[in-house]
Amino acid sequence: MMIGIDSLAPTAHVVGAGPLLSEETVMLTIDGSAGEGGGQILRTSLALSLATRTPVRITGIRKGRQRPGLMRQHLTAVRACAKIGSATVSGDEIGSREIVFTPGEVTPGDYTFSIGTAGSTTLVLQAVLPALLCTTDRSTITLVGGTDNPMAPPFDFLARAYLPLLGRMGPGVTAEIESRGFYPAGGGRFRVVVEPCAALGRLDLLERGAVLQQSVVATVANLPGAIARRELDAANEVLGWDPACLRIEMLRGAPGPGNVVSIVIESEHVTEVVTGFGEKGRAAEIVGRDAAREALAYLESGVPVGEHLADQLLLPMALAGGGSFRTTAPSSHTTTHLRLLEQILGVRSAVEPLPGGAWSITLSR
Ligand code: ATP
Repeated sequence: MMIGIDSLAPTAHVVGAGPLLSEETVMLTIDGSAGEGGGQILRTSLALSLATRTPVRITGIRKGRQRPGLMRQHLTAVRACAKIGSATVSGDEIGSREIVFTPGEVTPGDYTFSIGTAGSTTLVLQAVLPALLCTTDRSTITLVGGTDNPMAPPFDFLARAYLPLLGRMGPGVTAEIESRGFYPAGGGRFRVVVEPCAALGRLDLLERGAVLQQSVVATVANLPGAIARRELDAANEVLGWDPACLRIEMLRGAPGPGNVVSIVIESEHVTEVVTGFGEKGRAAEIVGRDAAREALAYLESGVPVGEHLADQLLLPMALAGGGSFRTTAPSSHTTTHLRLLEQILGVRSAVEPLPGGAWSITLSR
């Protein structure tokens, strides 16, 4: 069966870690270059292949990127998915633009996946986690590589914002960090424990509720604490929060230098994490100020779900067969992801602007 994510072909109907999509086993062909054209299409296709026990051919992998094809992080995700799902794979090599992935049985257990570079470990987790949410036994997944990478979910976002929401859908999923890994040295390590459930339940996140707690943590690894201080001061010029909300974390003995600013906003119904990444040539003041402006924009928008949570919540909601949330204007990750999920799982989505600039996204069977 050919599925281009811009095509309208309705396809699969069984969701969750159930049996086959249909009576006969079909090979889905996913166009990895469609829409946003990045690694998310690959990861979601692998995750759904495992969760629905359906073979997939993914073509045009990351065609929209400057260095197309599988990079170390994507290859690790392919091999990690093959491992937990006893899959056979062809095309799994660096630079490959096409793979064929035929899953077997998903086996819960204790797994360690090491990227071998500073590639994003949380993105590898995005591919393997969904299939382990609805199995018969507990799993632990240890990931080694980058934990706080620009353009990927940072560890604090994963642990504080994303996993607790998955938990509200049924499974228990927690993450504990052993060490942070930054580009280019990598070497970070964290462990995720999954207590599975029978089936994911729907999640509706329409209101944020009152803000209960807020904090700004500036972390520096093998770098002077003064950098973190400057970031906090710049952030708080924008936010104007009680100084007790600001904290410096100094990491010694990390494999390399690194710097990240995490702004955590814990509200009644959701926790959001906004992140700023320090990099050579970017002043600490700018890192702190930009992250704070993004956090302020989230607070002023009144929505519960920020841009990154929005595209990442879609997959578990689609596996649950439904869910809804209010968010900001959908990103290209969100629209691409929605189309892919609609066409692989047959879920329907409604994306509607609301008065005042917010948007509502609803998934249903
Ligand atoms: P490529 O290299 O092809 O761009 P990729 O594999 O690095 O691909 P994307 O397909 O771009 O990844 O997906 C990036 C994912 O990281 C998205 O789910 C996005 O929401 C998430 N993400 C990016 N920045 C953040 C952030 N600051 N906080 C939380 N999540 C983030």
